[in-house]
Amino acid sequence: MAGIYIHVPFCRHKCSYCDFTSFPDKIEYAEAYMACLYKELKMRGEELKNYEFDTVYFGGGTPSYIPPKLILGAMNQIRSCFKLTKDAEITLELNPGTIGESKVETYLKAGVNRFSIGLQTAIDEQLADLGRIHNARDYVYATKLLKGQNFSTDVMLGLKNQTKEDVRKTIELAMACGSKHISMYALTVEDGTPIFTDYLNGELPDSDEVAEMYEFGRKILEENGFKRYEISNFAKEGYESRHNLNYWKRGEYIGVGVSASSFMCGQRFTNTLDLDEYMKCVISGFFPAVTSERVEEDDAKFEFVMLALRTSKGLSMQAYKEAFGTSLADDFPVALKKAAEYLELNGDVLRIKDEYLYVQNSILMHFMEEER
Ligand code: SF4
Repeated sequence: MAGIYIHVPFCRHKCSYCDFTSFPDKIEYAEAYMACLYKELKMRGEELKNYEFDTVYFGGGTPSYIPPKLILGAMNQIRSCFKLTKDAEITLELNPGTIGESKVETYLKAGVNRFSIGLQTAIDEQLADLGRIHNARDYVYATKLLKGQNFSTDVMLGLKNQTKEDVRKTIELAMACGSKHISMYALTVEDGTPIFTDYLNGELPDSDEVAEMYEFGRKILEENGFKRYEISNFAKEGYESRHNLNYWKRGEYIGVGVSASSFMCGQRFTNTLDLDEYMKCVISGFFPAVTSERVEEDDAKFEFVMLALRTSKGLSMQAYKEAFGTSLADDFPVALKKAAEYLELNGDVLRIKDEYLYVQNSILMHFMEEER
């Protein structure tokens, strides 16, 4: 099974930390852009007739900012151009500052059955610092509009003036509003974004403080029945994100829209980041991919290890052997030795020990060095 990712690049305002392909001043292009995206879906669908897809993910940008009929149109096009399973997971990212009752009705009509809400923090001053267009009350309102639909909440760590108590309040608000899935991740500070100045000024918590917040949040989530299934992702039983699980299993996916990436048939390709170029390309009947590379076997092996070790389920030695015909011990003897104290082997499954999952990057470095 494979996934479909749809990139909707429009936002009402650019957040101070944002490095994604998102345009805060181009909403008037939304209809024309989505018409191109429908065309790209058709072109890709013709290529991928033999594939079956079981997840669709509308990300951005802010998919809930554009007229909802455009989401309905995209779903109609997906259903007519791709084989989509009946019980497909269909997720839409939702910004609490852009939502209303009739929008939700249209999303449900389109078949959306999972929402991912960007709360980030329940503290209004921190939301303002981040340049978010909503406050905590907007989040509560948005969750009420969903009337019991399945939704996930994003929680961000490492914000200016953020305390552990703030993290607790944020998680408790998400749980009280009925979130069955919580993505808790550290703010990534990218050079060139406004928040980079705060970082240089020493106004953001350092990595040890963020690690403590993470540990603090993890305990609250686990005490409340949320199971960590990936470094940043926690879910009640049965509410794991199928779309993301597919990424971590190195499953195939097709990305449609400006800047979207794909992994199909051993090939990775990424569409242009330029909105005009994207639209011109698709209108002229060309695929808008600007980079394309076949994943070499060594890279594929490292990706397999990296993605599997991010998850709490870990890496199946047998699955590795079936995928590559060689054993993990033969391919990464040095890394396995260097990382031994952080890893545990249970039967066939190799995992990063719970207490080290948060610092997995330094553990994975050993595997990366050996791959080269
Ligand atoms: S809403 Fe998301 S995509 Fe849009 S500017 Fe903020 S962080 Fe970037």
